[in-house]
Amino acid sequence: MTKITIAIDGFSSCGKSTLAKALASKLGYAYVDSGAMYRCVTLFALRKGVIKDHSFQETEVVKLLNEINLSFHFNPNTKSSETFLNGENVEKEIRQMVVSENVSKVSAIHDVRVKMIAIQRELGKNKGIVMDGRDIGTNVFPFAELKLFMTADTDIRTQRRFDEYSSKGQHISFSDVKLNLIHRDHEDTHRAENPLIQATDAIVLDNSELTREQQLEFVVKLISDLTLTTD
Ligand code: C5P
Repeated sequence: MTKITIAIDGFSSCGKSTLAKALASKLGYAYVDSGAMYRCVTLFALRKGVIKDHSFQETEVVKLLNEINLSFHFNPNTKSSETFLNGENVEKEIRQMVVSENVSKVSAIHDVRVKMIAIQRELGKNKGIVMDGRDIGTNVFPFAELKLFMTADTDIRTQRRFDEYSSKGQHISFSDVKLNLIHRDHEDTHRAENPLIQATDAIVLDNSELTREQQLEFVVKLISDLTLTTD
């Protein structure tokens, strides 16, 4: 069967990575979490002190880009791809609230986007990839055969992210989680470069009322219809 490129974009915490991972595993495709890349740059900048409580030094963040090496490795135990920053597994650290609070500012920097997009295109050059993010269908892979635009009710998204933090022992209030989602969605949809918008040829998937299984079934059907017509 011909391998295709699957681009999944959408708002924060609406289950993009859950769906992307399930699809990649079902199809034997690679999965790339493009948000994790922007999170790694943010984590590195925090560690280097160029992002602190009330200061954000954009030019210093850009200077750090040459020191950043990103890779993804499949962990057979967790059955998912994990993110490595300069050889260190940072999968947990990049999900911390302090990273979430700063990542949208980092991802709006032109030079950061140029570097991340080049890596993303290289990873996807042979197709057979599922990538999720904010600009994958509109900018990274504008010719992706399947583009999904995911959304879900804000309170449902907040509850899912809140549960995720709680299960990892991070105690953040529901309202702080919700504020962070709303803030990031606003920043991501209003930035000058590659903002989050729905590609004209994307299929909208609102999963507020869908189980994981139902949404996977819906997309697998889309793919089989698509590959039947392209093979
Ligand atoms: O997907 P996730 O929530 O982990 O993404 C973190 C942040 O990275 C987003 O809020 C957004 O600012 C940025 N991002 C982006 N472009 C992408 C993926 C993520 O700007 N393709």
